[in-house]
Amino acid sequence: MPNVSGIAASAGIAIARAFILEHPDYSVEKRSITDVDAEIAKLEAALEKSEAELQAIKARTLQELGEKKAEIFESHLLILNDPELIDPVKSKISDEKVNAEFALEETAATFIQMFENMKSAYLQERAADMRDVTKRVLGHLLGLQVVNPAEISEEVIVLAEDLTPSDTAQLNRKYVLGFATNIGGRTSHSAIMARSLEIPAVVGTKEVLTQAKNGDLIIVDGLDGHVLINPEDSVVEEYKSKQAAYAAQVAEWRKLRDEPTVTVDGVHVELAANIGTPNDVAGVLENGGEGVGLYRTEFLYMGRDKLPSEDVQYNAYKTVLEKMEGKPVVVRTLDIGGDKELPYLDLPKEMNPFLGFRAVRLCLDRQDIFRTQLRALLRASVHGNLRIMFPMIATLGEFREAKAILLEEKEKLVAEGTQVSDSIQLGIMVEIPSTAVLADQFAKEVDFFSIGTNDLIQYTMAADRMNERVSYLYQPYNPSILRLIKMVIDAAHREGRWVGMCGEMAGDATAIPLLLGLGLDEFSMSATSILPARSQLTKLSQADMKELAAKALDMQTAEQVVELVQSIEQ
Ligand code: PEP
Ligand code: MG
Repeated sequence: MPNVSGIAASAGIAIARAFILEHPDYSVEKRSITDVDAEIAKLEAALEKSEAELQAIKARTLQELGEKKAEIFESHLLILNDPELIDPVKSKISDEKVNAEFALEETAATFIQMFENMKSAYLQERAADMRDVTKRVLGHLLGLQVVNPAEISEEVIVLAEDLTPSDTAQLNRKYVLGFATNIGGRTSHSAIMARSLEIPAVVGTKEVLTQAKNGDLIIVDGLDGHVLINPEDSVVEEYKSKQAAYAAQVAEWRKLRDEPTVTVDGVHVELAANIGTPNDVAGVLENGGEGVGLYRTEFLYMGRDKLPSEDVQYNAYKTVLEKMEGKPVVVRTLDIGGDKELPYLDLPKEMNPFLGFRAVRLCLDRQDIFRTQLRALLRASVHGNLRIMFPMIATLGEFREAKAILLEEKEKLVAEGTQVSDSIQLGIMVEIPSTAVLADQFAKEVDFFSIGTNDLIQYTMAADRMNERVSYLYQPYNPSILRLIKMVIDAAHREGRWVGMCGEMAGDATAIPLLLGLGLDEFSMSATSILPARSQLTKLSQADMKELAAKALDMQTAEQVVELVQSIEQ
């Protein structure tokens, strides 16, 4: 029975058959051909298959999602049948005696570039459509098996090299009982999404794809980070008991749903949830969340082929605010870049995407995108308790510029007669060491901080959060990280500001006693971590944890800090 281990990314046990999800390789090589007719016939067969596929997708989309969404596939069909694209491909095959894949890719690239260079947003979108259609036809020409995760319709465990955040967003939790990947870490966005979907997951196994094949019986143990392949019956039984014990533990935690989070010495801290879509709010309320501490709005921009309009965004923000019924909702403005791509923006590939053109850096440059989002947020603000925060702030200048744009949009809306709330708190994420170090200056200008440890740790330790080979440097308990967190909390408190944390560290059972001791006001985490955290916090005294944190700050290594935390009775 081959077993593989990895990083426990989302709690729970799942047992089902393997479904391997591969991202096929679309790379094309130029080949000389002799039989032109055969090559053209190959192209025509691929076009026919693509047409049949698109007709089927269009019909299904029409039925399930309505006319508007189905129009996308209508335009794909038009491109597929457009002689202005297909005739030059055929001429290239016969004139230059090259293979169909190469002729198609080269011809389409010319059109794509031409559309992209046009000013009109409509024509730029046609570039995205053209790219999609070309990929579909290439898939058939290359004989690739292309599976769409949204089309899975039986209970499975998905195994993949990696899952992009948009793959994960498309997984249907009714059928996808769990997943395991070769790469990724606890703070990669597919792991974060798995926790909000409550799908057990193990990531960074390095070898699950070489060990397992389609149809194998798989156990994903998202509690301890193991994946078992074709286990014996007795092992399956053992895991079924483990699954039942976990379900019983979850039921026990559920009893704390409506309880406040008060420590034994009477200190109230707020437990909030991180969400990616309005659908996640149900999980926040079921798990007793006292607010939303981080709404990652970028998911609203993913899984579609163009930017969401102001109204689409307004409706999403309004839904979340209304469903949270006056509880605070911290909405983070667009944080695209890093491991979160938006193909339709066509941003150039970067050497170091996590150090590149992402989040507020992109928004300050593409102000059209930023202003649309801010207007949608401002309009939605009257429907609940909205707080706005900017991601990846590195300098005071960036914060001031982003704030000025927000105020400009607010003024415009008010002048147009639109109602906007006057009590929107404005904060920043502290994810970059420069901002943590300068927190005393920032604290004079912001209403609150939310510490994003996923990025703060990667930037402090200079260790890519997606790279499992350096995942040992993801060290939330390293005294250097604890000292940075202390600087931020102390600086904020001196100015009467509150501090939250929305990185994964906030829901980590070893970190929680330390964070309580350092004076963190709000802990924001995956909804499923809230009740275990509440159970833990209500058994701790903040006064004792202050002493513990003081000792931890003076230690040398993360290991020593873990030992120290383990030495206390919890
Ligand atoms: C963080 O960096 O800690 C954070 C919460 O943001 P994200 O994980 O989306 O980068
Ligand atoms: Mg971040």
